[in-house]
Amino acid sequence: MIKDNLLEIKNALPEHVTLVAVSKTKPDKDLMEAYAAGQRIFGENKVQEMVGKWERLPKDIKWHMIGHLQRNKVKYMAEFVDLVHGVDSFRLLKEINKRAEQNNRSINCLLQIHIAEEDTKFGLDKEELNLILKSDEYHQLKNINVVGLMAMATFTDNETQVRREFNQLKTIFDSIQPENPQIKTLSMGMSGDYQIAIEEGSTMVRIGSSIFGKRN
Ligand SMILES: *Cc1c(COP(=O)(O)O)cnc(C)c1O
Repeated sequence: MIKDNLLEIKNALPEHVTLVAVSKTKPDKDLMEAYAAGQRIFGENKVQEMVGKWERLPKDIKWHMIGHLQRNKVKYMAEFVDLVHGVDSFRLLKEINKRAEQNNRSINCLLQIHIAEEDTKFGLDKEELNLILKSDEYHQLKNINVVGLMAMATFTDNETQVRREFNQLKTIFDSIQPENPQIKTLSMGMSGDYQIAIEEGSTMVRIGSSIFGKRN
């Protein structure tokens, strides 16, 4: 089942779109079924859960932290995390830089932008984003690479609204891209809205329930 779901989605994705298989709450055996079908990028939203899976599962898996991240948790994953999607403050970015330095590595990050009309979602607005990218302090951080932007649309059946929100993120992305050529990744789209997200310019989709089934 997982294998069929995964391959069906994978085969339908355009070549320039990367699939993050969101495995939060799912047992190791489910991840291994996706792994056996060729999947190597997995997304988790809880640091402890991701650390446990990293310890137990094959070492060629790339682990993406996709959830809201507290600064005091960064140290537990700094050794291995491949991409942090939800960086929503400069303080968090500095903490990731510090922990990466302690581990003699660089950590790739996406800055999370607030596009949803819902207040409950996290993220920077366009001004906050520009303040970070233009600051000297940001350019002095040697152990992080900001490689893109991430956002979540409002949870709604209103396709027009979701499309408008994704388009808003793409517009911000295009506005900063010329001066920040290392910013190449646009992480947007989940099970319910990834097709719209791709039409609006997504290069990375985070899909959980359509691969692994509903979560409890
Ligand atoms: C859970 C989660 C997803 C995946 O959601 P599905 O609807 O199961 O595809 C994607 N992105 C984030 C940030 C998530 O927390």
